[in-house]
Amino acid sequence: MARTQVAIIGAGPSGLLLSQLLDLRGIDNVVLERQSRDYVEGRIRAGVLEQGTVDLLIEANVGERLLRERLVHDGFALAFADRTFRIDLKLSRAAPCPCTARPK
Ligand SMILES: Cc1cc2nc3c(=O)[nH]c(=O)nc-3n(C[C@H](O)[C@H](O)[C@H](O)COP(=O)(O)OP(=O)(O)OC[C@H]3O[C@@H](n4cnc5c(N)ncnc54)[C@H](O)[C@@H]3O)c2cc1C
Repeated sequence: MARTQVAIIGAGPSGLLLSQLLDLRGIDNVVLERQSRDYVEGRIRAGVLEQGTVDLLIEANVGERLLRERLVHDGFALAFADRTFRIDLKLSRAAPCPCTARPK
């Protein structure tokens, strides 16, 4: 009978990423999924990924297509009092937002 160190239930993003991270550390594992492979690969699971998730996918060596095809979300607009304010996420990463800075 085949043996494995870790059995992961579910081939969603969590299960598949955990499997990949274990693989990278040489830990034998198997993913058990109740749906078909076609179903799992065809369903929509995410359109927007947080930066931490992107970083983790790259660290796990599964970010190649993501880096090639991604659209970086570098800002958005807030409409208020008949005006539109652009929130530049590139700027907010470089310096803390003054609105959340603690008073001295
Ligand atoms: C339409 C849609 C859009 C989304 N968009 C985003 C987004 O833009 N950004 C974002 O970050 N998140 C998004 N999400 C949320 C994201 O998809 C979930 O957070 C993520 O799928 C959770 O991953 P998971 O592996 O924990 O669970 P799941 O994706 O639910 O995977 C669990 C898996 O386990 C299997 N399973 C369950 N029980 C058993 C069992 N007893 N035996 C065998 N297999 C089992 C299921 O079939 C499934 O494949 C979206 C979700 C949906 C539905």
